[in-house]
This record gives sequence, C-alpha cells and structure tokens, in this order.
Amino acid sequence: MRGDGNGVPFPFFPQPAKGETVYSVLCRCSARTALHESHLLEELTGQRRCAPLLAALPGYLPKIAARVPQGHPWRDTTIIVRDHTPLPYFTYFDRQSEREAWVRKLADAMTSHPFSLSLGLSRSPCQASTPHPRYCPTCIKEDREMEGFAWFKREHQLPGVTACWIHETTLALGCSQCGSYPIKGMALGMPGKCCCSQGASPLPCTTNQPVRTEPLVWLARQAAFMVNSSGTSCDNIRKALREAALERSWGRGSLVDPTRLANGMENRFGREVLEWLGAPVWTEGRPAAWVRRLLRKGSEAHRRSSPVLFLLVLGALYDSLEEFEEATENSANIPVGLRLPSTSEELPRPPWSEELFRLLEAGTCGLPGIAKRIGVPVYKVIDEVRRHHWRVLLSPQTRKKIGDEKIAAIKEDLRSGVKKTAIMQRYCCSEWALTLIELDEPGLNACYRKAGKQSTQQGNRTRLEQYLAIRPTATRSDVMKALPGVYDALITKDKEWFYRQIPDKRVAAIKTRKERVDWAGTDRQKAAEVSSIFDRMLAPGVKPVQATETAVLKKAGLWTRYRNNPKKFPLVNKVLKKRSELYEQFLQRQVAWAVKQMASAGEPISINKLRRVAGVPAQLLRDRKDMVIKVSREMNAAINGRSFFA
Ligand SMILES: [Zn+2]
Ligand SMILES: [Zn+2]
Repeated sequence: MRGDGNGVPFPFFPQPAKGETVYSVLCRCSARTALHESHLLEELTGQRRCAPLLAALPGYLPKIAARVPQGHPWRDTTIIVRDHTPLPYFTYFDRQSEREAWVRKLADAMTSHPFSLSLGLSRSPCQASTPHPRYCPTCIKEDREMEGFAWFKREHQLPGVTACWIHETTLALGCSQCGSYPIKGMALGMPGKCCCSQGASPLPCTTNQPVRTEPLVWLARQAAFMVNSSGTSCDNIRKALREAALERSWGRGSLVDPTRLANGMENRFGREVLEWLGAPVWTEGRPAAWVRRLLRKGSEAHRRSSPVLFLLVLGALYDSLEEFEEATENSANIPVGLRLPSTSEELPRPPWSEELFRLLEAGTCGLPGIAKRIGVPVYKVIDEVRRHHWRVLLSPQTRKKIGDEKIAAIKEDLRSGVKKTAIMQRYCCSEWALTLIELDEPGLNACYRKAGKQSTQQGNRTRLEQYLAIRPTATRSDVMKALPGVYDALITKDKEWFYRQIPDKRVAAIKTRKERVDWAGTDRQKAAEVSSIFDRMLAPGVKPVQATETAVLKKAGLWTRYRNNPKKFPLVNKVLKKRSELYEQFLQRQVAWAVKQMASAGEPISINKLRRVAGVPAQLLRDRKDMVIKVSREMNAAINGRSFFA
C-alpha cells in the first residue's frame, strides 16, 4: 500500500474548502487519521517531507490525485492547480493560451521547481513563497464558527501579502510561544493549533511593517482578486499600461517618462512601502532600472516581470484591478480576426495600362478586340477601366439593339443598387450588355456598389432586428453563434449601430439569467427546505452535528448556487442568519446530549466519561465547568463526587 500511484485509493480524504492550500488539506487529513505524519505524506505524495507542499507552487499533485478516493474533485489535477494553488496569481497578466499551458504543466509535474524558475519566481522583488504558512487569526475564528474548522488559504500565501484581504488583520505564521509553522514535531499542523493548551498566540508574519498599512491591504485585495480570477482579459499588459500612462500625460512622445511613472507610484504607495516590498522606484536619485524597463516597447520578449511590479504601476493608474479590467475590456471584446484589413495600399498599375488607354481613345475596336491586342483577359481589362473611371462608349449597334429607353431604365436600376441578376431578368439582357452599359457611364459602378452596400447593410440590420424581436435578451455572442455572417458584417462595417442594439454584453447576460431562472420562487422553496433541515439537525435525541451554514446548504443542495449568488436568496439568508449554530451553542448541545445519555444509563457525570460520550476535548469541558454543572442540574443528572465538576 505504498503511495506509488497505482495503489488502493486512500480511505479518507477531506473535501477542500474554498481557496484551501494543498498543504492545508493534507493537514486536515492528518488530523483525522491515526497515521504518523511522515507516513501519511509518504502515502499521499510518495515522499516524507512537507517542504515541497509549502513551496510557492506545490509538487506531487499527480501522486495525490491518484490516491484520493473515486469521485473526489482532486482526482483532476487541473482542479487542484486552478482552485488550490497560487498559480492563477502568478500567471494573471499572461495571455490566455499561456495561462492554460501553465495549468497543464503544473498539473502534470511531480516537482514544481523548473516552473518556479521559468515563471521567474526567484527574481520576485518580495519573496514569492513563504516556507511558513500564514493565517489570519480572525479568519480562523470565523471559519471555525461557520464551517466547524479552519484552514490555510492561498490568498494569504501570495507575494507581498501580509494582511487579510477580508479582515485587514495582520497575518500570523505561527505561535509566539512555539515558533513559526510548521512547528517542530508537527509537520502537518492546522492553523491556530500548536503545543499550547489554550491555542496559538498569533506570531505576526512581519516585524518591520510600514506605518501606512492601507497600500498593504490594497495589495492583499488585488492579489486575492487575481488568484480567484481566470486571468486578465487584456492581451498585452505592458502595452495597456503604457497607453494608460500616456493618457495620463506621463510620457514624452510615444515613450513613457520613467520619472513621472516613478513619481506616480511613489504618490500612490509611499516610499516606505515600495522599499519594504523590495521595489524602490529610485536608485541614486534616478528612476530605478525596473521602472525604466517595465513598460518599454519590445521588453515582452526579454523576460517575465513579477506581477507585483505590474500591480504597482496599475495601482498608480487605476483604483483597482477591476477598474483596469473594465477600462480595457471593450477593446478586447472584438475578436482579433474580425478587425478590418488595411485598404490603403494602392495596387500597382499594370504595364499594359497605357496601351489600353490609347486604344480606348482611338475607339477603333471594342473591349474584346482590345483585350486580344494587348494579350490580357477581358475581365482584367474591365477591372482596369473601372479603376480609372474611364468611359467606354456604347457602340451604336449595341445602343440600337437594346434601345435608349431600356438603357436609361437599366442605368437607373444600377444606380439604386438593384441586384444585377434581377436587372438581367427584368430586361432580358445579357451580363455582357449590362457591363457595357455600366462602362458607358463612369461612376455608375461606384454608385451601384455603394447602393449595394447600403442594401446589404439594411438586410443585415433587418435580420438582426428580426432575431432580436424573437430573443430580446440575446447577447452579442449569442448573435455571433446564431447569425455568424450577419455578426461578421455588422461588427466590421456597422459596429456602432450594432453596439447600440445590444449595448453591453454583461448587462444583457444578467438580464437573460434573470428571465430564465425564477430566483424568487427558488428562494422561497429553498428557505422552507433549509428551515426543515435545521429542525431535523437541531432536534433533541439525535447525536448533535454542528448546524453550520455550509452543512445545511450542502444538505439542501444549494451550496454552490448560494455561494455564487447569495443576494438572490434573501429568504434563505434570513433563515441561515437566524438559525445557524455557533460553535459555542453547538458545544452546549453536545454536552446536553451526552449528559442525557449518561443520566439515562444511570452513570454519574465525570470529565473523562463525558469527554468520550460527547466527543469533546477535556480542556474544552474544563473551561466550561459552570455550563456543564448547570446542564447536569437541569437534567437531574448525578455528578461523580470525586470528579472535577463536584
Ligand atoms: Zn481574515
Ligand atoms: Zn503555541
């Protein structure tokens, strides 16, 4: 049963919490199994050290995936990489295809070391990883109450992050009595746990923190946003920031002025913070090398730059990453292949062009004769004539054959853009005759094409309007899928009108969802369901399980939906807020239940027995001596005369 990847699945493996690091899930697994830590590590990763799990990017993911039970989400290593490692943070500013490639690489890797090198993590101004996992003391309290347990979060482990993005609390990396995590002899310890009986007294992760903490909280928020996002929609971060800097007049011509850029960053973050982050913007009174290079044209090719540096520039230009994304989104909306090709280049004149002109002026033979004389196909001759707007007079024979009245009518139809096939049918004339009539009046072809364009445009507009009449909430991408031809034509030639019809992708998308799902109905029904789940879970008699929000939502099959959209469930939210059980309440219920069991079995209450029946650590019961005595009295249970409670 060695962890060789082919073995029997490991019998128990916890469900990862949101943003929980790989190391943390293994810690929780260890807390619930009787295996020795190094043995557990060997079972799950094929080696005995926890350091590879605490690196900036964890290794051994394929091994872990092969050992978790069937049906566990971690059977898929790409899920581990996307949702439980910091990789999305490090690759946030890359192009989408590159981000995907990184995910696949890390998902298949036993050791992450080569990627850390090629991702440039060793050159990060502030440490890219911490060998000591960090936690937020407020988070662990809240998580214990809400979820029944605490975990290490990837948002807290990112470069330059020393504060919690939710609580703004300074992060801790261990216990001030026992030292930093992992504590000696506890390779897989859970956050807030240590050798102290009262729990860890948080050891701050930094001792020389800058006075101004607002920039640090800002950085923590942006980092959390990045790690939970699928990446920027911006195609070229350097270019986007360069353009934004130039818009701010931080440039000289088309170049960004490093002095103004450095000043901008210093005004936003302050010198102390920048130096503390390891990214000072000045060296000996001049803008630092990284400030001069970061946005320079062509620097993309040279080397990766740390996301921290991009964040610093971005923070000087925008209020937040979200604002930056919104500002760049519109330009990224149009797929690249649909941009209009440039039409400015003039076609070179063919060498026979002058000869053609001479022969036309002479007027001795018709177009077929001229084509024969200069040795060029007729259609090429016609193209050249059209291009120069030369007139080819209708021969008297042709004029007579078709008749002046008909000729005038055909010209009128051409001017108004009636399709040539329709004209030919209407007047029973050949295509050749039509061409001759057209060439008799230079400019007629241009009129015809302009009118034709307009009627095509009108046709496309009409088709879109008809489509939108049936599907009023369709988004631009719906149109792209349903009417690709119309979409292409509109977005390349009639974009403004098109955008006016479907103003904004996101707004439209939200509208569609609103119409499709009956949120209010679901909320009502689920609120009733959630309420009855609470009734069952809190009913006396059954062995207590903490009725946390998560537990109840999962039982109601609502966990993911509620998490994604809590605002859609006001009634469910009300029930949850009113009835979910805090840890202290749960503890009391556990004690009451156990006391009742013991009393009905006629057993006097003692700490040792009570602890086993209730499944609560002795220390917790000792701390709540008064509560235990009160509950026992209420239930008329006898207390063991020699016990702690006597
Ligand atoms: Zn927190
Ligand atoms: Zn301690």
